[in-house]
Amino acid sequence: MRAIRRFTVRTLLPSALADLDELARNLRWSWHAPTRDLFASIDADRWVSGGGDPVALLGSLGPDRLDVLAADEEFVARVRAARADLDRYLLDPRWYQAAGADLPRSIAYFSPEFGITSVLPQYSGGLGILAGDHLKSASDLGVPVVGVGLLYGSGYFRQSLNRDGWQVETYPVIDPDGLPLTLLREEDGRPVEISVGLPQGRTLHAHLWTAAVGRVPLLLLDSDVPENDDAARRVTDRLYGGGGEQRLQQELLLGVGGVRALRAWSRLTGAPAPEVYHTNEGHAGFQGVERIGELVRGAGLPFGAALEAVRAATVFTTHTPVPAGIDRFPRDLVAAYLGEGGAVPGVPVADVLDLGAERYHGGDPTLFNMAVMGLRLGGRANGVSVLHGHVSRDMFAALWPGFDRSEVPIGSVTNGVHAPTWVDRRLQGLAETRLDPAELESGAGWLRADAVGDAELWELRRTLRAQLVADARTRLRASCRLRGATPAELGWVDDALSPDVLTIGFARRVPTYKRLTLMLRDPERLRRLLLHPQRPVQLVIAGKSHPADDQGKSLIQQLVRFADAHDVRHRIVFLPNYDIAMAQTLLPGCDVWLNNPLRPLEASGTSGMKSALNGGLNLSILDGWWDEWFDGENGWAIPTADGVDDPDRRDDLEAAALYDLVENAVAPRFYDRDERGLPVTWLGMVRHTLATLGPKVQATRMVAEYVRSLYAPAALASRALTGAPDDADRHVDRHRPAVELAAWKARVREQWGRVHVDHVESGGVGDSPQVGDSLRVRAYVSLGDLRPDDVAVQVLHGRVDEEDDLTTFAAADLGLVEEYEAGRCAFGGDLTLAASGPFGYTVRVVPRHPALVSVADLGLVVNAG
Ligand SMILES: *Cc1c(COP(=O)(O)O)cnc(C)c1O
Repeated sequence: MRAIRRFTVRTLLPSALADLDELARNLRWSWHAPTRDLFASIDADRWVSGGGDPVALLGSLGPDRLDVLAADEEFVARVRAARADLDRYLLDPRWYQAAGADLPRSIAYFSPEFGITSVLPQYSGGLGILAGDHLKSASDLGVPVVGVGLLYGSGYFRQSLNRDGWQVETYPVIDPDGLPLTLLREEDGRPVEISVGLPQGRTLHAHLWTAAVGRVPLLLLDSDVPENDDAARRVTDRLYGGGGEQRLQQELLLGVGGVRALRAWSRLTGAPAPEVYHTNEGHAGFQGVERIGELVRGAGLPFGAALEAVRAATVFTTHTPVPAGIDRFPRDLVAAYLGEGGAVPGVPVADVLDLGAERYHGGDPTLFNMAVMGLRLGGRANGVSVLHGHVSRDMFAALWPGFDRSEVPIGSVTNGVHAPTWVDRRLQGLAETRLDPAELESGAGWLRADAVGDAELWELRRTLRAQLVADARTRLRASCRLRGATPAELGWVDDALSPDVLTIGFARRVPTYKRLTLMLRDPERLRRLLLHPQRPVQLVIAGKSHPADDQGKSLIQQLVRFADAHDVRHRIVFLPNYDIAMAQTLLPGCDVWLNNPLRPLEASGTSGMKSALNGGLNLSILDGWWDEWFDGENGWAIPTADGVDDPDRRDDLEAAALYDLVENAVAPRFYDRDERGLPVTWLGMVRHTLATLGPKVQATRMVAEYVRSLYAPAALASRALTGAPDDADRHVDRHRPAVELAAWKARVREQWGRVHVDHVESGGVGDSPQVGDSLRVRAYVSLGDLRPDDVAVQVLHGRVDEEDDLTTFAAADLGLVEEYEAGRCAFGGDLTLAASGPFGYTVRVVPRHPALVSVADLGLVVNAG
């Protein structure tokens, strides 16, 4: 029988235990072991069977049990102490509070998914986990971030396998009342209502749930509300579910609704309005359109000026070079949603369409591209590793024609992971007791054998491996039962995997480029590695395929079928339903973390960082973060066959290289033991990894970098254009600099067709120039009606290749020498020849204005020749 309505009855806590409610609701427990211990001590069995969920645990306690607890003075004192500790965490000054003046008062962080704890299953993979780690680390650093996302009625899916090894998806209904969420209400108690206009006069309504991620509030919009018609209720039913139109509706709710949610949050709590808006991938791009709409509607700004004001305050992070990871909608569909009376009143639909138009060489004029809109709305943009920065500059170079790829204005901030979430508590405990705080922070303490001895470190690594083996057996047994095996057939599971065998892990989503089955390329060779008589290897594998991706599902099936074979099933297992909880045991338990994407499609990858933080060694293609930080001693690089065009042949080559490494390097080193039975060289690599990668891979490092290189400059740029945040008047005057900048840009664009480099002269060096000689350059240019100080005339100089292309170059501004009639001018300057070898130079004209973030800001350039 199906219920027609459901709700969750909340437990009323006795007043002596009231603090438990706050401790359960603030998700800091998810990375604070003492708080988890407090909950576990209430009822260890229920704690485990409820999946370590404080809200579920409290909900399961009857009044009698609560009365007993309330009468237990010792317990009540522990609750009070935990609450006091939480309050200190929430209120004491932290890194940000001493990081400098003029930092933004608040930063909004938009993401379609947030992976904070498995209790809140609102994520599918790396993007969401990164967003969760960003919020947690911002909280630890005291950075005033506010997260904005959607609440999905059944989150992502739960994965299981059928008898044939085919992925089966189920969508458990999530009841927000049973989650650590609070419904935001108006002062009169009504739920806050956010609405966004839809075509045909319909309206999409949403309620707003808030989660407390330590100090950081996370606002989640939920369309499953009675005010909506049935179709609108389903808009937020699933993460990345549904077709293009539902995705567009989700993204309108996230972006447009998200800005409205922020306003409601500020109105009701007094929180300052964000000064910076950071969008995690393009999905939330409409937030910029709504902010433009606010300025048009509220301050009466023209579109162009509003765009400048919004851009200055926006940071866009691109996360993938894989085209399928970028949302593109039919232009007509976007026009239908953003036309007259649509989602964002006040912004002409033609201007919106222009923001996402692929009007560049190779673009599709019928599509609206969310990443392109992200770049046009983001005054600052970045990729997520140094390599991904390069790849992104190449990928989006067509948006900045005439510029060298190195000048495409996309930088990089390498991802990081939140250590308190991902470091096993045993390892953390050992580190805290043996290393002093400075050694802990620098990582150097791990190199001191008298702090943690080899035997002790190895014993700990074994404990982590054993913990994984135990967890894997439990999961494996459950999965085999679901696939139809009887308990009598499952005796072998007790011996599946071993706590003493070299353990290699591979777990991540299963898009094709991550190549889940590369290891199966030569099944016999893999079999030999697994069953090696002296140096066996065991593999623990997990990952979900997107429900619509049958190719991914068939990869999983191939793997499961291989792992089902009786001769290897004790050495290779596929564990269904990869999630944060599994990762927290899997990653610390693996000796080696395998990653073999098709380079350079892995923008960063973060699971290998979690492994490194636990002393795991990475075995990876040089892609994403590993390309940057592999140093020869912290793991192994799988050689890539970049440039081999035949994909089958490339897989063959790279798989063979992988087998060779495992057979000849990884396994011999793991099994090379001294007289005490310790793998001393291996342990040296573990220490080196903990010491050198440990500090770098942390999300606190990442968030601090975002603050310094993106948030702080964005806030300053925004204040320069729209006045200080305290300026109360919303009048157009406050925005005069933005109006002027927009007018200046319009004038430059309008005149740009008349800009020309007429003639370039040089002198000062003889036929055989020498290092130290000075080259005199003079450029005669036409500027139309532009003034000389509207432009920079630059000489680009540096090394040239055989084709006379400048391979690396520097730009130097030439000074105005003389003005002639009809907009013609001469610019000149001297260049010192600093290095020997082939040298070349050229001259160009670019717009110049103090508010431009990069030389390519307007995308306008006139090159000589
Ligand atoms: C870290 C993590 C990911 C991301 O892994 P990548 O290696 O970046 O692909 C995905 N899912 C879960 C559960 C994770 O913990």
